[in-house]
Amino acid sequence: MSSLSSRTPTERIVDVLTEAVLAQRLIPGTKLNEVELGELFGVGRTTVRQALIRLAQDKLVTIEHNRGAYITTMSDLEVRETFEALAMIECSVLDKLGRAANSFDISKLRQHLQAQERAHAQRDADLEFRLAPDFHVLLVRLAHNRVLNDVHGRLTAMERLITSQYHETFDQQHLCSEHAKLVDLIEEGQIKQAKALLMEHYRELEDYSLRQKVQKPIMPLKEALRL
Ligand SMILES: [Zn+2]
Repeated sequence: MSSLSSRTPTERIVDVLTEAVLAQRLIPGTKLNEVELGELFGVGRTTVRQALIRLAQDKLVTIEHNRGAYITTMSDLEVRETFEALAMIECSVLDKLGRAANSFDISKLRQHLQAQERAHAQRDADLEFRLAPDFHVLLVRLAHNRVLNDVHGRLTAMERLITSQYHETFDQQHLCSEHAKLVDLIEEGQIKQAKALLMEHYRELEDYSLRQKVQKPIMPLKEALRL
């Protein structure tokens, strides 16, 4: 994320809206009125529109002709397909790592696990929730394929949107322990078992997301964005 001083107005709107989505204040279906956003941020509609287009590229926002922009609502099928696509990409990455993972890669993954454990120990649920998908982003980066990173990054943004609805009730410690087990298996070269664990990991997240679906009340924009 860019520093406060160098952020353009568009970037600021993107950051504030993304933050509000991840903090579960802006829930799927919330209407994003361009005029209201312009007043709240003190910018013109063109700037607001640029920010909404940027967010739409990451699928956090849906823009519909005649209906305007709103926070993306995903169907059960889209939720399943998102988790399936993440698992498929990461299984291919595990195949590649099975042939090419080195001790430097393993130590990077372990450093990330330590950050997750620290967040848990400090009871920083928001940080823990953010770091969990970052583990998978890091895993994919180890395959050194920028196109794959890009596709996976977009899917991760969708996953964050899905799980942001439930993160207070996710068993983060269990998910983190599965990450640790995954790193052990990669280090031991047990790629078949690592892939099975990864598939199960995403199946759990998917089941949980579909089972615990709740519609929270929509907050007024000003309150949701804390402006
Ligand atoms: Zn995970």
